[in-house]
Amino acid sequence: MTQLAQIVDMITPKTTARRLAKLAQRCSAVHLPGSPAYDQGRFAWNVAVDQRPGAVALPETIEDLCHLVRHAGKLGLRVTTQTTGHAASVLAQHDLSDVVLVRTTALRGVHIDPARRIARVEAGAVWQDVVDAAAPHGLAALHGSAHDVGVVGYTLGGGLSWYARKHGLASNNVVGIELITPEGEVVRADAHHRTDLFWALRGGGGNFGVVTTIEISLLPIEDVYAGMMIWPLDRAPEVLRTYAAWSASAPDEITASLRFLRFPPLPELPDFLRGRSVVVFDGAVLLEDDEAEAVIAPLRALAPEMNTFARVPAATLTTLHMDPPQPTPGVGGGIAIDRLDDEAIEAFLSAVGPQSSTDLLIAELRLLGGALSRVPQGAGAVEGIEGTHLAFVMAVAPTPEVAAASEIEVERVLEMLAPFEARWLFLNLADRPVDVSRAFTPPTWQRLRQVKAAVDPDGMFLANHAI
Ligand SMILES: Cc1cc2nc3c(=O)[nH]c(=O)nc-3n(C[C@H](O)[C@H](O)[C@H](O)COP(=O)(O)OP(=O)(O)OC[C@H]3O[C@@H](n4cnc5c(N)ncnc54)[C@H](O)[C@@H]3O)c2cc1C
Repeated sequence: MTQLAQIVDMITPKTTARRLAKLAQRCSAVHLPGSPAYDQGRFAWNVAVDQRPGAVALPETIEDLCHLVRHAGKLGLRVTTQTTGHAASVLAQHDLSDVVLVRTTALRGVHIDPARRIARVEAGAVWQDVVDAAAPHGLAALHGSAHDVGVVGYTLGGGLSWYARKHGLASNNVVGIELITPEGEVVRADAHHRTDLFWALRGGGGNFGVVTTIEISLLPIEDVYAGMMIWPLDRAPEVLRTYAAWSASAPDEITASLRFLRFPPLPELPDFLRGRSVVVFDGAVLLEDDEAEAVIAPLRALAPEMNTFARVPAATLTTLHMDPPQPTPGVGGGIAIDRLDDEAIEAFLSAVGPQSSTDLLIAELRLLGGALSRVPQGAGAVEGIEGTHLAFVMAVAPTPEVAAASEIEVERVLEMLAPFEARWLFLNLADRPVDVSRAFTPPTWQRLRQVKAAVDPDGMFLANHAI
């Protein structure tokens, strides 16, 4: 219990339940267990996670948000913020009994300033909201593979986009962040105001307050050369070896990934995926068509059964990776690796290749390097991602039993890749409870702890990856 909570306990009703009830009396946006709004609010995008916080809050306005943070603080309650619940499996590791889970879903405003190439985005917006608003101006955002990931959660965690190897992490393309302090006040952090806080927020996640608005830089990109190639999974060894050799010298203009995918025979899947196991290479290239074609030529030379690479509107990139279109129960995990040499290739094949017994839906190697390996001027707490590839695995887990078995399988595969693990974790795609300090250099970790102690001395704000 925090110091403030202890004092509050001495002078107000003793139990957490009473404090939560008091908050619900003071704030109409707050809902307690037993009400339909509570169940609506605790529903996470990752349906496998059955999160049961002390209360949920569904604020309609930023004023509602300030009001509830102020009163939660006075009552010694903790606050966590969730836009979608894509990372709910990480939050679920914490005791949430004295926590108000704030869902920002109602705050989805996006304002584009085409002259300055900036998007001002409210806390509940998902990437498709920004992509749709920016595209008519010929602008693109540093969004990730899924259309419905929250802009704030993704960006505070770093943000690995389709433009990452050319333009770096999304968190290092942030102009300013507005957030609510423990006192319930909105403050702004940017390159000139609260610079330590601005640094910490960009990679340090939701540990420092409730973000109400984020301003992000947009790129003048209307279209890209992008697509995917598919082979049957039994060609995995040959495709993986080619991918590994190719990726060692791929130009910064391409951001790409290679995945082994095993699909169940679900009727909603297209014919070319239903019930099949395949290798998929996909990517986005920021070059003219002929140059882009030359870049992907080594993969194309492997005669994929399908090749969709073509010039496409940048706005279509939110569907390229075929991420689930709606909330999905999943168990996953990811680590950065620092080489994809013969030994690592053999380990990956033996863990998830065609001869393995795995039933993981996804085993992915996302290409790192390029701008991700350089430190941009004015970088935040996460400067880039060290390593050559990000290995990410995931299973669909419709029941608790399948989820438990999948956790063991995810662990098994990541352990097989552990000898190749890069020094630091990338929290956005760690996707499970980890030692958070392992995502930062020791001086960065220490500085993050100092900023946390300065802005949130009572530990009121709980993030999924807690500092
Ligand atoms: C299908 C899928 C595809 C993905 N693709 C990518 C990708 O391409 N690149 C990538 O980098 N990551 C990717 N991710 C990971 C994703 O970026 C993280 O899970 C991210 O945390 C999700 O943010 P969210 O707001 O949607 O999730 P939530 O679970 O709602 O939030 C995650 C955390 O963000 C913080 N947070 C959210 N909103 C606020 C706020 N308003 N104020 C303060 N803190 C806040 C909190 O700490 C919260 O626990 C993917 C995840 C999935 C499931």
